[in-house]
Amino acid sequence: MNWVGTGMNWGGVDVDFGARGWEVHRGKGRVQGAGGAPGSSGGCEGAGGGTGLNWGGGDRWVGVHWAELGGVAGSREKLRLQQLLLLSVSVPDWGGDGDWESGRAGSLAQQNLGFISYRCHPWSCAGTSTKPWPQPCVAATASSGCPRGAGKTRAAVHVCWKHLESRRDGRVAVLVNKVHLVEQHAKEEFHVLQGTFRVTAISGDSSHKCFFSQVVKRSDVVICTAQILHNALLSREEDTRVELTDFSLLVIDECHHTHKEAVYNKIMLNYLQRKLSGQQDLPQILGLTASPGTGGKTSFEGAVEHILQICANLDTEVITSAQEHMQNLQRQVPQPRKQYDLCQERAWDPFGQRLKKIMAQIQQHMGNAGLPQDFGTQTYEQQVVELEKRAAERFCRKTRACALHLRKYNDALLINDAVRMVDAFQHLQQFYAMERDMKDPTERFLATTFEENRASLLALAGCQRYENPRLSKLEEILRENFQPQGSSRGIVFTKTRQSAHSLFSWLQDAATLSGQHIRAAVLTGAGYSNQTRHMTQNEQQDVIRQFRNGDLNLLFSTSVAEEGLDIPKCNIVVRYGLMTNEIAMVQARGRARAENSVYSVVAKANSREVSREQLNENLVELMEKAIKAVQAMPEREYRLKIAELQRNAVISWQVKEAKISERRQLHDPDDVYFYCVNCNVAVCCGSDIRTVEGMHHVNINPNFRRYYTVSLGKISFPRTFKDWEPGCRVMCSGCRQEWGMEMIYQHVKLPILCIKNFVVETPAEKRRYKKWSSVTFPVKEFDYVEYCSSTQEDESF
Ligand SMILES: [Zn+2]
Repeated sequence: MNWVGTGMNWGGVDVDFGARGWEVHRGKGRVQGAGGAPGSSGGCEGAGGGTGLNWGGGDRWVGVHWAELGGVAGSREKLRLQQLLLLSVSVPDWGGDGDWESGRAGSLAQQNLGFISYRCHPWSCAGTSTKPWPQPCVAATASSGCPRGAGKTRAAVHVCWKHLESRRDGRVAVLVNKVHLVEQHAKEEFHVLQGTFRVTAISGDSSHKCFFSQVVKRSDVVICTAQILHNALLSREEDTRVELTDFSLLVIDECHHTHKEAVYNKIMLNYLQRKLSGQQDLPQILGLTASPGTGGKTSFEGAVEHILQICANLDTEVITSAQEHMQNLQRQVPQPRKQYDLCQERAWDPFGQRLKKIMAQIQQHMGNAGLPQDFGTQTYEQQVVELEKRAAERFCRKTRACALHLRKYNDALLINDAVRMVDAFQHLQQFYAMERDMKDPTERFLATTFEENRASLLALAGCQRYENPRLSKLEEILRENFQPQGSSRGIVFTKTRQSAHSLFSWLQDAATLSGQHIRAAVLTGAGYSNQTRHMTQNEQQDVIRQFRNGDLNLLFSTSVAEEGLDIPKCNIVVRYGLMTNEIAMVQARGRARAENSVYSVVAKANSREVSREQLNENLVELMEKAIKAVQAMPEREYRLKIAELQRNAVISWQVKEAKISERRQLHDPDDVYFYCVNCNVAVCCGSDIRTVEGMHHVNINPNFRRYYTVSLGKISFPRTFKDWEPGCRVMCSGCRQEWGMEMIYQHVKLPILCIKNFVVETPAEKRRYKKWSSVTFPVKEFDYVEYCSSTQEDESF
């Protein structure tokens, strides 16, 4: 293959950005270059092209210059099958409004590295010699006035635009990994295509999902979660079924998740399998990520292997990079000032001591020797979780109940370590307020033990002098960075939803911060959890909107705000007692993009959090080196390696699938019995179970009704379902153990069972499963008509 003259050469990994670089324009109307509004054909082709695009955001126009891979267009006839380009770009960002006004290049946020892979099929240009080649372009973003950091998404919009423009039958699927990103991408980024192309956003609660296949046929761009596309690819119903070949381009957002069991990877495995069997009309792939990570590898070889694996999973065959040219642009890269704000442990912790004493008491009551003693650690948590599982499988109700309660006390110790004593106390208080089976002697003992300690725990929790030193550290940081009447904006990242709420409530009581004009809120995920309060998508959007317009200036957030969320740049980002991987670190750090911003790590001195953060820094370097090494690989070697990884991935997937379907046939559903996990009463058998929508497992045996009771009031979900709505909670009528919830399916009530609340007995063993997908017997799909006719027969007897 002749790359000479294409501007791309394998040795030096060279992309010609030419004299064009990045430019930003302001003002009303189109400003610059040959381009125009979306849909106009100029702009990308030929030297000197630039496009003025209105991205919304008030009266601001952002001119985007194409970084053209020089010469690809000219040499398109030479492009072979499976030509891939991996483009690594830094997304320039602007330092502040002043920079915007002067048009001076402000800052190039290195941490906001976009890792973009783009694949060009020769057939996408077949017969279009007069049309511009869909350029693997990367657009710079400038978004000071409209403070959105989604640079790579914007680049994707450009690619989509050029792609659709260049082919009559083009259709794009933009896949995201979080539900709230569907609306955000549609409203904030892809809306510029609207008008010229038909853009449809499909989220779980929209009715579009039910007629996915028709909606796809009527659209040029479909934005949806990967799960929706995956379900549609597997669907057997005509209304919802689609094929990969219905699309000409798949855009995969946060594509570093295209790995292992992730949905992205399931879609790509489907793709790879077709590719390896010779299918020709597969879509092109564009992957976007801020950081591919090292996949948990700490060695250079491991990191290289990981990057190659991601490339293989995304079918990325040729790599080229724009990074080096970025340096030629000679723009400053303001990194946030990183600081470790370390604190000591509580000098004296009588509250924690009391909790540990109670735990020792419970262990004594259990009587088994050899129980772990390292209360308040993650290791202890893992051990009691395992103990609880084993006890359930052996029907040891006493051990199981004690292990469950020990876990709650351990949670309380961890909370005490992270936030306030009173938060830990409330965690236990809530747990003991739950309804339980007081006929059981162990439950009685455990409840009494807590009751005996309640008053003294509460009293200790109120003692200010024992409070967590971490909080005074956080107070210091906020006081320093939030000036009265200032325009400060910050995010405190914390591990759990619970700690985000605790910090919020702490802030409201912190008298010393009351004059700082801090207007805070909590931002957590929208996923349903019966443990902690979840936010609905609307609540999330509300908080983000207020944060954007300045009504709020501080967020206490879980990892939900790390990735993808359209959040304005902050001058202070705090990682509060977090242990994450390097990808999350890079993403959190990327939120601190304002001038003179601070990135603070609040942790205990000499703790695992600190060492993990330091490891992450090394891993980021390692990752960058690994990307360079992969880019520098000779073409032939790279192709062979990728082909090998793809073959291996497909084969091991097929082997695994075969094993799963084999395991599914191991037992006759009539020989499988279900027992309540708590009181061990046998309640149903495997042949009573059916699936709805392929994932909800319901019991259709009318006799099952006598084994359960339902809660008062229906469960409310932040979303709706196609054929059914949720009813009440379902509980064991003997011991009040939660089992699942009712499904109201076209006026029929069916109990959905959550498998972790049962012990499953097969002729081989007794086991507790976490997921229905692991069971060893086949489950039939629910048939509404059959069900109705059989229950009517029953009634007529
Ligand atoms: Zn029970």
